[in-house]
Amino acid sequence: MKRFLLLLLLGASSALAAPRVGTHDGYTRVVFDLPRQTSASTKATGQSVTVKLGLTLPAERGRLSAPGVTAYAVAGSTVTLTLAKGHAGAKVQVLPPKDGHAARLVIDVPTSTAAARVPALPVRRVTTPAAVTRPASTAALVRPRVVLDPGHGGVDPGMQSRWVQEHAVTLDVALRVRDVLRQHGVDVVMTRDKNTDLSPDKATDLDLRAKMATNDKTSAYVSIHVNASTDPAAQGIETYYFGQPLGGASRSVAVQENGGGSIGQELTRRAADRAQSQLGDLLAQAKLAFSRQLAQKVQTQLVRATGAVDRGVQTDAFYVIRYPTTPAILIEIGFGSSPVEGPRLAQPAYRDRVAQAIARAILEFLNKN
Ligand SMILES: [Zn+2]
Repeated sequence: MKRFLLLLLLGASSALAAPRVGTHDGYTRVVFDLPRQTSASTKATGQSVTVKLGLTLPAERGRLSAPGVTAYAVAGSTVTLTLAKGHAGAKVQVLPPKDGHAARLVIDVPTSTAAARVPALPVRRVTTPAAVTRPASTAALVRPRVVLDPGHGGVDPGMQSRWVQEHAVTLDVALRVRDVLRQHGVDVVMTRDKNTDLSPDKATDLDLRAKMATNDKTSAYVSIHVNASTDPAAQGIETYYFGQPLGGASRSVAVQENGGGSIGQELTRRAADRAQSQLGDLLAQAKLAFSRQLAQKVQTQLVRATGAVDRGVQTDAFYVIRYPTTPAILIEIGFGSSPVEGPRLAQPAYRDRVAQAIARAILEFLNKN
C-alpha cells in the first residue's frame, strides 16, 4: 500500500516531491527540494506566502496538516504556502546543496500564537454568543464523532484495475477526510489506517467495522469504496444509505462490497432481510432519514467538486451499514474500471478533491444536526 502511493508520487513529479513538513517548538518548517541553488523573493499577502524562484518547477499542489499551514502549490517559478487562520508571514530561505543534500527552499511559519494552539470547532451556521464564549473544556466534550471506513484492505484488496487498487484509494481518501475533519474539531475514528483487514473472514470483518459506530456517541458512519464494472463505459459517483437493493438482490452493487461471490450473495440476502424488517420500525426509519440527508449532501458536494457523472443517491443492502443506530452511508467515489475515472482516481490531487468534498458535506451535516 505504501509502495503503491510512493510509486504514484514518483510518477507524478520527477524533480520535486511533496514538501517535507516538520513541527518544531514555535514554528512549522516546510522544505522543498530544489534541482539547484537559486534566487528567491518573498511576498506575504493575507493568509498566503508566495516565493518567486529563479528556476521553474513541475506543477504540484497538496494539502498540509501541520500547525500554521494548510496547503501548498507549485506552479512554474512560484511556490505558494497557504497559512492557517490567525497566521501571517513566514521566514523564507534557500539553502545551498550541502553534505549530499539537494538545494532546499525552507519556509518557517511561526506557530506560537494562541490561534495555533486552540483546536477549531466545526463552523456553525447559526452561532449564538454563548457558543462562541464556551470554554475549551466544554467544547471538547461536545466534539462530534465520525467513523470513517476505508473499504477492504488486508486479505481483500477490493476492485483492481490497471490504474488503481481499491483498498489503497479508499484508505488514501479516508485519511485525507480524517485530516480535514480533525482540523475542524471533529473526533475521527478510523476502522483501519493501514493496509489491513479486521478479520480474514468477510462477515466478521464487516461486523467489526460496523460495530465501531453502533453507540450513541457517533454522529455519522461513512464507508468509502471504488466501483467496478465489466462495462468500460460505466462511470460516475453514487452514494448509498441502507435499504432494499433497488436493482434486485442479484444485480446489487452490495454483493461485490459484501465480499463478492457466494459470501457476497449470502451477506446481501441477510442485510436485505434486515432492511425488510426495519420497514415497520419508526426509530430505524427516522435514523434512515438522517442517513439519506447525509448521503444527499455528500453526493451533491462530490459531483460539484469533480464534475463526475451523477449516479444519484440510492439504497442497497450493504452489510456494513445495516445497523440503524447511526446515520450511515456508503460512497462509491468512481469506477476504477473506467478508462476515464481509473486514471483520475490514481492522481493524489484528484483524490484530495474527492476527500475535501466528502469532508465539506460531513461538516455541513454535523452543523445542522
Ligand atoms: Zn468496495
